[in-house]
Amino acid sequence: MRFPLSMTAGMASYIARNKLRPRPEWQRDLSSPAGPAGPFRIVQPWRPHPMIGKRFPLVLMLEPLHACNLTCTGCGRIREYHSTLGRRLTVEQCLAASDECAAPVVSICGGEPLLYPEIGALVTALLARNRRIYLCTNGLLLRKHLGEFRPDARFFFNIHLDGLEQTHDRLVERPGVFREAVEGVKAAKRAGFKVSTNTTIYRETDMREVEALLEFLDPLGVDGYMLSPAYGYTAVGDREIFMTREDVQEKFKDIDRLARRFRLNSTPSYLDFLQGKRDLPCTAWGNPTYNPMGWKGPCYLITDAHFQSFEDLMTQTPWESFGRGNDPRCEHCMVHCGYEPSAALGINGQPGDNLRLLHWVLR
Ligand code: SF4
Ligand code: SF4
Repeated sequence: MRFPLSMTAGMASYIARNKLRPRPEWQRDLSSPAGPAGPFRIVQPWRPHPMIGKRFPLVLMLEPLHACNLTCTGCGRIREYHSTLGRRLTVEQCLAASDECAAPVVSICGGEPLLYPEIGALVTALLARNRRIYLCTNGLLLRKHLGEFRPDARFFFNIHLDGLEQTHDRLVERPGVFREAVEGVKAAKRAGFKVSTNTTIYRETDMREVEALLEFLDPLGVDGYMLSPAYGYTAVGDREIFMTREDVQEKFKDIDRLARRFRLNSTPSYLDFLQGKRDLPCTAWGNPTYNPMGWKGPCYLITDAHFQSFEDLMTQTPWESFGRGNDPRCEHCMVHCGYEPSAALGINGQPGDNLRLLHWVLR
């Protein structure tokens, strides 16, 4: 995720502090070592990366509610939590979760966060705690609720757009959503807000259309673009829309050219991973998820348990049992919430990474 330089420096200092003084109780493995195909498979075995065995959170995925005003084809949330869609967290629970986990970035997602009645108060309180915030929305209610927020360099609206009008409206299963979301983008930019967009890449996605979407959005002043491979949710029955690792690498093979043209929010190392140019281990503890059922473990995609405290999530999850080669559910996973922390932490780093990262930040 891309923030102004001063905030990126703050994130670098947070990472350095945790590297130097990792919490010992979070580093214990609960099952036997997974072997060479485990989640910590290191490309340079002669120089194990110092981040191995140093678990801590970077981004809190905060889901105040799962209710939504859409029923998108690829959405795991509204399916997995269909029986508890009426539940929501209180603002106090959200803030307690943020305090407990202390991740410097909070991604407020859901469900549709703009349906959360206290969303303005929640964002204000998180900013008062100096959190950097991405509010992930489908954009349908953005114009209506804009007055509940104040522009801040630490606060982004992250608007879900999976293609141009026809494609997007088909994937969200309702006509008119694309147009309203784009009106929301324009209104937010006019009002001085930071705006990014989030595009999920499915098996059927035409990457030329994605490029056309970014060409359409750039003149509107969009500050950054996130392109993510679709999650293979077990809760979504239609397996045909999700991709294998090979499919993902094929889709992202031309991503460097797009990254030169547009401000992509993904780090250069994560883009390398999506293209198959480097291996990364899963570091799911870097993006923990909190929702009305509790702390979701092990990750944003897989639910083996809900824990009542962040401490329990960190100490009772057998982290070393997940990742490619350990759990069949992880086999084709390349999602940003599992692998972007690995890139940000410099795992499996290569010569020149720091320069590329600096260039990415400065852009
Ligand atoms: S807008 Fe988001 S939460 Fe709502 S159905 Fe679509 S993907 Fe799911
Ligand atoms: S599904 Fe993905 S993010 Fe979750 S543990 Fe497996 S590899 Fe990591």
